[in-house]
This record gives sequence, structure tokens and C-alpha cells, in this order.
Amino acid sequence: MAIERTLVLVKPDGVARRLVGEILSRFERAGLTIERMELVQATPERIMAHYPSSETWLRSVGEKTREAYARDGLDIAASFGSDDPLAIGRTVKSWLSAYMTGGPVVALMLSGNRAVELVRKLVGHTFPSAAAPGTIRGDYALDSPEVANAARRSIHNLVHASGSVAEAEEEIALWFGERPLTR
Ligand code: ADP
Ligand code: MG
Repeated sequence: MAIERTLVLVKPDGVARRLVGEILSRFERAGLTIERMELVQATPERIMAHYPSSETWLRSVGEKTREAYARDGLDIAASFGSDDPLAIGRTVKSWLSAYMTGGPVVALMLSGNRAVELVRKLVGHTFPSAAAPGTIRGDYALDSPEVANAARRSIHNLVHASGSVAEAEEEIALWFGERPLTR
């Protein structure tokens, strides 16, 4: 068995909407083990360290946004002042600090067979309208890039989940270990 660990954050909108129990129950009923859990008021520094600074990640955020705009026939340059994925990724990252420090988050370390992929599946797509019914984002979130971006803010989508085993280990160290905030 490929026992993995992964990091989940119930984001401030999830805590404010009293969805912590509902979200936790979905991970528990899938058989995942709760290893650690803590309610934390994050600082902007922690959030900037949590989300990668690598061009690869920034570009992937920009690309995903660009694809969604293209599919919906929306003008991304009008929203972001650029259609460059890296520039879009940087803008999105700059909004994450206000969102993720707007109230406490619940940090969770979960473990289980193929936990990283399984948790991503339970969480659903980044953009709620693209998240399948039955996923956390598909069932409880209603935000969209065009509404969020017009307000110059992040998409409110209730949960963060590590995207890969490597990302999970970095994030577990940041939230539950002792490691300087450099990334
Ligand atoms: P995920 O959380 O699904 O792994 P990403 O890592 O790509 O998604 O992005 C991190 C977070 O940034 C998202 O969960 C969402 O809150 C926010 N975000 C991503 N793209 C956009 C966008 N175009 N506009 C506003 N916020 C965004
Ligand atoms: Mg991600």
C-alpha cells in the first residue's frame, strides 16, 4: 500500500460557514486517518510560504484560469491586464493572503492509502462550477473566477488540499513542523 500523508486547510469561508464538521466527515467516511488538527489564525507570511513562489506553480494557476476564461468566452486580458499565465498567477497569489488570513483556518494532516490523490478527488476542481457534484467544492461552493476577479479577490472554495506528495511534505512541515518560512 502507498500510505501517504497530505495537508488540508479548511479555509476561512469554510470555518465561517460552520462546515468544518461536514468537511471532516467526508474525509473520515472515506477511511482517511486524522493525524493532526489545529485551528490557526494564519499570518500573511505563512500564506505566502504555503503557496509556492516557483514559476511552474504560478504559471499553472495562470494557465488554469486562462483555460476557464477561454471556455466561457471571457476576456482574460480585460480582467487581469495581461494574458500571460505567469503574470496572472502572480496576481492570483497576491490575493490569497487577504483571503486566507480573513479568519482562522483548520489545518489537518490526513493519512491513508493514496491519500493525496483521494483527498483531491473528494475536494473537487478549483473552480466550483467545474467541481463535480458529490465533491466538497461541488456541493458547497458557488464562486467563479469572473466574479472573484472583478472584485480583485481569490475564489472562495472552502478547502485547500496538497497537489502532490512532494507538496504535501512541504506543507506538513510548514503547518505542523518547525521550518523557517522560506520557499
Ligand atoms: P487548488 O486550490 O485547487 O489546488 P490552485 O493551487 O491552482 O488551486 O490555486 C490556489 C487557490 O488560488 C485556489 O484554491 C483559489 O482559492 C485561488 N485561485 C486560483 N485561481 C484563481 C483565479 N483565477 N482567481 C481567483 N482565485 C484563484
Ligand atoms: Mg493547489
